[in-house]
Amino acid sequence: MRSMNLLIDASLPLLVDCRLLFSYKKETLYANHLNKMNPILRSIHDFISLLYPKLCLACSDNLPPFDELICLKCQYQLPKTGYHLTKENPFTEKFWGRVPIQTGASMYYFTVGSRMQQLIHQLKYEHKPEIGYKLGKLYGLQLKKQPHFQHIDAVVPVPLHPKKRHIRGYNQAEAFGDGLAEGLEVSHYPNALYRKVFTETQTKKSREERLENVFQAFAVAQADRLKGQHILLVDDVLTTGATLEACATKILEIEGAKVSLATIAIASD
Ligand SMILES: [Zn+2]
Repeated sequence: MRSMNLLIDASLPLLVDCRLLFSYKKETLYANHLNKMNPILRSIHDFISLLYPKLCLACSDNLPPFDELICLKCQYQLPKTGYHLTKENPFTEKFWGRVPIQTGASMYYFTVGSRMQQLIHQLKYEHKPEIGYKLGKLYGLQLKKQPHFQHIDAVVPVPLHPKKRHIRGYNQAEAFGDGLAEGLEVSHYPNALYRKVFTETQTKKSREERLENVFQAFAVAQADRLKGQHILLVDDVLTTGATLEACATKILEIEGAKVSLATIAIASD
């Protein structure tokens, strides 16, 4: 046991050095870096992985030391949209003629059976709000570099139905918003909007009635905070956009408020 501890003590600084070596453009280098690694470092890496077999939440492979939740290979390979690079893009086009937003973007494409679907599933149903936070922080740092996202004052998540929130224990959009606000270095108002409680079932209603219900479902709780602010309204996955449209419309009723949108993923049509 003593010799094992000594080996770990001796190997950690080497691994840290190795990490620094590969931290430069690490996303592009990572795919090949294990193969290029010095054999001694590689053995130490494998040995430590055996002791702490944490798994990547996207691909279920062993998570390399120092990677958190999602391996760098997955972070590199998950299908990025790049929508945030332009003010007008396929995401913002979905809202044309519906609600006047400043800009908007999704981080990734969402397709059935993909690693992205696995991540979203765990974020929503397997008590992993940390996935939302991590992706939010990563995206916030990227959005901050774009001129059209630099005037955001605060992040507001789409609220979850109180019953769902109670069962789940958290709001996944809020976890994403929390990370985004930190990456963008702006305020986060998780309780600015709320969802009204409906008792009647939605299933027997027509499509129009359900849509109308979505518009009636949300209300602003903290109008004073949002007055004159440019709000980044966030949700997990963009599908029809009805929820984001309803929430954005409510925020835009507040004097001087502007709205941009962001989601973790966008469902393909
Ligand atoms: Zn992975």
